[in-house]
Amino acid sequence: MLNKMDDIHQLEQLDKQHFLHPTSSIEQQQTLGPAFIFREGKGIYLSDVKGNVVIDGMSSLWNVNIGHGRLEIGEAAREQMAKLAYSSCFATFSNEPAIRLAAKLAKIAPGQLSAVFYTSGGSEANDTAYKLARHYWSIKGMPEKKKIISRTKSYHGVSVGATSATGLQPFREFSGSLAPDFLHVDQFDTDELRQLIIREGAESIAAFLAEPVQGAGGVHIPPENYFAEVRKICDEFNLLLITDEVITGFGRTGKWFGIEHYGVTPDMMCIAKGITSGYAQLGGVMISKEINETFKQRSGGTFLHGFTYSGHATACAIALKNLEIIEREQLVSNAKVRGDELLAGLKQLKNESEIIENVRALGLMAAIEFKENKTTTPFSPQVVAEAAKRGLICRAVTFNGQDTVVIAPPLIIKKAEVEKVIQILRETINA
Ligand code: PMP
Repeated sequence: MLNKMDDIHQLEQLDKQHFLHPTSSIEQQQTLGPAFIFREGKGIYLSDVKGNVVIDGMSSLWNVNIGHGRLEIGEAAREQMAKLAYSSCFATFSNEPAIRLAAKLAKIAPGQLSAVFYTSGGSEANDTAYKLARHYWSIKGMPEKKKIISRTKSYHGVSVGATSATGLQPFREFSGSLAPDFLHVDQFDTDELRQLIIREGAESIAAFLAEPVQGAGGVHIPPENYFAEVRKICDEFNLLLITDEVITGFGRTGKWFGIEHYGVTPDMMCIAKGITSGYAQLGGVMISKEINETFKQRSGGTFLHGFTYSGHATACAIALKNLEIIEREQLVSNAKVRGDELLAGLKQLKNESEIIENVRALGLMAAIEFKENKTTTPFSPQVVAEAAKRGLICRAVTFNGQDTVVIAPPLIIKKAEVEKVIQILRETINA
């Protein structure tokens, strides 16, 4: 237990000296130290070494769907680790949790998605999907179908492939150099998509890639008929449709998978985050029966794609327990009900406030977009900093000229807790 100020100070110094943080301001770390050193989590709450208690209004990184501190998950992990923590899945070696989880995923996934390739997270899932799409066309005798089209505000991860697919400019610039064969179209513009395919030639394009609801890009919810139109275009031009459900999967939007709101089925689906609610690192790509059968028909040779941790037994056992909890506690429908309440509360805030331009939500993915600001500093970072002081973690999105705060609490959130979130946001915005 850390409670002495000296110990905390030492931790802060060690953090500053030795810990290069992911997606963080190094300047902020070096001047102020780590924003929080979390020690415990329970339900929707996190507490830090200084005794601050905050609502985890982002489910950490949109992923802790079942909330923090679920001992059942620890039990499942302990049980699996005591038997077999890990063994390789290369060379057709297998293990029971990986097999059972694959079958479970095939059952809950939309449409004809029937098999899974396991990764450790969402970026690996994305890179895998691009490679599998190209491999698929290659087997079908169309090896020149290589290009991947994605969208301008998209986020698909930070590996070189996933960064190349990502549309958000700052991530692309940070990468220094990007992979070839990635193209981008504007948000929700199916005419532009069609024109781009015609211009480039469908014979050179492998797939269109999209998040059902864009997360990191600012919670952008597509018009109702958008994905039906996209599916039509993919079919017309012989492109695979890959949906990136890394955030929207496993109940986040009030359905098991985000694409189910739009009545279409993808050919491949990237998954991660909510598959384990963050209790272990796991992701994957689900592929359609058609793609699966095509891979099976290719005889001889080795399928030369695999990560050391593909099919990690303990991660898969944790995922199985997590999915059991989501089902048992009906968290998918809770996300819908609580999401509707959250949206109603945000609409109320918009009515009360002069600085809010727009609010939106699908399930428990929500955003507050601020009006254009007379000063040079956007509202959203100030709101996020002030909300944290009042006990709520949310996130600012300022990419591509946006000024938006996003909120995505754990799916276990209760009605009274939604009201508390709204109340903290009200006090913050008023201040
Ligand atoms: N795709 C989407 C839609 C994401 O939101 C993220 C992560 N926020 C990723 C991919 C990358 O996942 P990871 O950070 O697990 O590599």
